[in-house]
Amino acid sequence: MPKVAVIGAGAMGLAAAYHLLKAGHKVEVFEADAVPGGMAAHFDFGGVSLERYYHFVCKADQATFSLLQELGLEGALRWRRTSMGYFYQGRHYAWGDPIALLRFPHLDIISKIRYGLMMFTSTKRSDWSKLDRLRADQWIKAWCGERGWKVLWEKLFALKFFEFADDISAAWIWTRFKRVGTSRRSLMQEEMGYIEGGSEVLIKRLVERVLGMGGTIHLASPVSEIHLENEAVSGVTVSGTRLSFDSVITTVPLPHIPKMIPALPEDMRAQYAALKNVGVVCVVHKLKKPVSRHFWLNINDDRIEIPGIIEFSNLRHFGSNHIVFVPYYLPITHPRFSQSDDSLIRESFGYLKLLNPELLDQDRVATQISRLRFAQPICPPRYLERIPPVATRIRGLQIADTSSYYPEDRGISEGVRLAREIAGRVQ
Ligand SMILES: Cc1cc2nc3c(=O)[nH]c(=O)nc-3n(C[C@H](O)[C@H](O)[C@H](O)COP(=O)(O)OP(=O)(O)OC[C@H]3O[C@@H](n4cnc5c(N)ncnc54)[C@H](O)[C@@H]3O)c2cc1C
Repeated sequence: MPKVAVIGAGAMGLAAAYHLLKAGHKVEVFEADAVPGGMAAHFDFGGVSLERYYHFVCKADQATFSLLQELGLEGALRWRRTSMGYFYQGRHYAWGDPIALLRFPHLDIISKIRYGLMMFTSTKRSDWSKLDRLRADQWIKAWCGERGWKVLWEKLFALKFFEFADDISAAWIWTRFKRVGTSRRSLMQEEMGYIEGGSEVLIKRLVERVLGMGGTIHLASPVSEIHLENEAVSGVTVSGTRLSFDSVITTVPLPHIPKMIPALPEDMRAQYAALKNVGVVCVVHKLKKPVSRHFWLNINDDRIEIPGIIEFSNLRHFGSNHIVFVPYYLPITHPRFSQSDDSLIRESFGYLKLLNPELLDQDRVATQISRLRFAQPICPPRYLERIPPVATRIRGLQIADTSSYYPEDRGISEGVRLAREIAGRVQ
């Protein structure tokens, strides 16, 4: 059996290690952070264990359900009726069902019908080959018209993707419509899930299983180099020590790859170097009062420079406290990415006060800020041709990150599904 190194102890790396160990391989996992979990890691929020980045489960997340069952955690899945709202130029509107759409006063009836049809047909569609070649903004405009685009989408795209806003694949946005649009009890009622105790519960169980089957997890152990010899992988360097492996699986963000594998052939290096991401600064407030009754609140307001908030406690309850995530998705070159914590806290709480004028300064119990440089891969049209294959032509080397399951958006379910495939390929 080959000796396998897995780089990254996020959901994908840990799930790959778990499947490899089940198949009898010898596995070592290397994680740069001091804790496992990657994007799904938790922190202690004044006695509450909470994800650094909000996580919800959709009804389409089949691979998550299978893994939870295999790990004896199927009972930890909870489902809640959730809702969406839209804060449009200073006023709250219900959103996310046909009646809300019909009542929304800022669109004409034709645009509403076109928008409704786009959403409905998106949930029914399965062939995305044409969508891969189209731009998301052009595809949405073709369905909803200019007015629909301006009122509902333009600002959301601008504030999530900035200079990449007109370079997003229609296939990528379509999978998001489909995943969320099919997570419903009925046409009128959205339903979302979460793991009781948070994503950490899944991460901890994977860690337990990996260790229990004889795997090793090295925390605070960044891999600085992956070595190649004669077009095959030969090992990794960790904290200055070179270690031999027959097979290496990396799950770190793909933009790290050119630096991490200096011996990579030039054509492969160029492919990885061309990939783009946006980062995120995720502010999470613990409050004494709710901001709204919705799980998601999309925002289009000239005073507010974020596309929406996630009121997480409207999915997972936290006693008398209300938990609200305010994600600033940003290219890492944007000045806001390095804005001080204090000023981001002031600004984001100021936004929450605009959304709910009854919120007072004394209603803010605590705030935490997490930053991630590679939070959202940018998938432009024809991404299918650009994305490097997970199984590389270098023998024993597999390279994946959250963009490897395009057109699906980053997500735990797709990550653990791919992990099973990756493990199955190790000979
Ligand atoms: C704001 C936000 C919201 C999200 N919401 C949801 C949601 O609602 N539902 C959902 O399913 N998913 C959601 N996701 C996505 C989900 O968190 C990810 O898809 C998943 O956690 C990614 O797992 P991964 O193992 O592929 O990558 P990561 O979790 O990124 O793991 C990669 C690991 O590699 C480590 N690493 C990096 N460099 C090195 C190195 N040199 N050596 C060793 N280790 C290294 C990193 O520290 C990290 O732990 C969200 C993500 C974000 C950012």
